[in-house]
Amino acid sequence: MIRIVLAFAFLSVFAACSPKVTTEFATPEDIRFLERPDEKVKRSPCNDPLSYVAHPELIRMKTIRVNLHFMNSADGRHNMPKEEATAYARDWIYASNSNLDKNMKMFLPHGNDTPVLPIPYRYVITPDPDIPGDEGVYYHIDDELCYVVKKGRERNISDKRIIQKYAVRDDSVLNIFMQTHHLDSIPSPTYSASTNGISMGSSVKIFGQWHKKPSVWDSRGIVNHELGHSLGLAHTWGGYDGCDDTPPHPNCWNKTNTPPCDTMYSNNMMDYNAHMGALTPCQIGKILLNMARPGSIQRNITEAKWCTLDTSATITVTDSLALECAYDCEGNIIIESGGVLQITCRLSMPEGSTITIMPGGKLIIASTGYIHNACGDAWDGIVLVQEKKAKGILEVIDGGRIDNATYTRVSEP
Ligand SMILES: [Zn+2]
Repeated sequence: MIRIVLAFAFLSVFAACSPKVTTEFATPEDIRFLERPDEKVKRSPCNDPLSYVAHPELIRMKTIRVNLHFMNSADGRHNMPKEEATAYARDWIYASNSNLDKNMKMFLPHGNDTPVLPIPYRYVITPDPDIPGDEGVYYHIDDELCYVVKKGRERNISDKRIIQKYAVRDDSVLNIFMQTHHLDSIPSPTYSASTNGISMGSSVKIFGQWHKKPSVWDSRGIVNHELGHSLGLAHTWGGYDGCDDTPPHPNCWNKTNTPPCDTMYSNNMMDYNAHMGALTPCQIGKILLNMARPGSIQRNITEAKWCTLDTSATITVTDSLALECAYDCEGNIIIESGGVLQITCRLSMPEGSTITIMPGGKLIIASTGYIHNACGDAWDGIVLVQEKKAKGILEVIDGGRIDNATYTRVSEP
């Protein structure tokens, strides 16, 4: 009811400002239904990572929910004291996020001009709202699961029991487990007790010497690397990772004076190197594509900011804009005179939002396109503005859909 009142208020304000201008929610009579063009089926741009970075100005900052688990033994030798855990966790996530603030220019290929886009996500430690006083940082005493052995008969890096036993809300929060290398293995000259880890979907295990409380600045790269795997990225040196802007290389740790590591050293986040600070446009696009896929792990651990209307996130289209990626809009959309917006994939509009088409503006919903609300709610619909004979144009190509719109009902003629 409130929404209906608001809608009428919205319409009457428009009308009051200028008697020549009328506004109305689109009806089936307003829609130009067009035949699907007879064209060859090619790979859908909706599944191409580069489609997701084609309009960097439209990329919204995403928030990834994380929590952290400090594992220790009953004798206290496998991790830092419990009193220090929460502050360490906060510092560590802060340091990891600060790396994301400064995407590096790629070192490879040598002399490249690959663009440097901002990295569009950050982590936030997320408590369980059902646990009073919870801080999203957990401390477990477990003599069996507090340590990791990376090789040999006792190898247990992919043991899932720690996740099964201790994960908290791993359907919507990425769980980070901290295990220390077995104390008997650390002194061995043949065992590398460096900081590394493994991604297991919505949980990652990070191995280190946590009892020595290493600097968070030394271990920030591994958080971004392992969480990068959970966000859907592969190593770039080990074979084709699905991106053309991440060339293969010998995985040098750092620059040396002799080939191949004099020029073929990488700084990509998804390699093992001293920097782990660069993500390419294709890698960022892959992450955004995964986050836009309903039901994916990457989407489930991301805060659904697109479910609440944020009018400061309004998109104004003044030119031609072909949106060839799935997109979760956080605000309204206004298509100005001369603006043409084409929707080729999924477009989600927040509850209570509108798409306004001004006279001389046009919205085209392609045969593969649809507009909906991805949160199980309804959005308001498409508003057409008319001034004299000029009116906003709405075209729907056969197969295109407008779903969950309260005031825009679409039925084929
Ligand atoms: Zn890795």
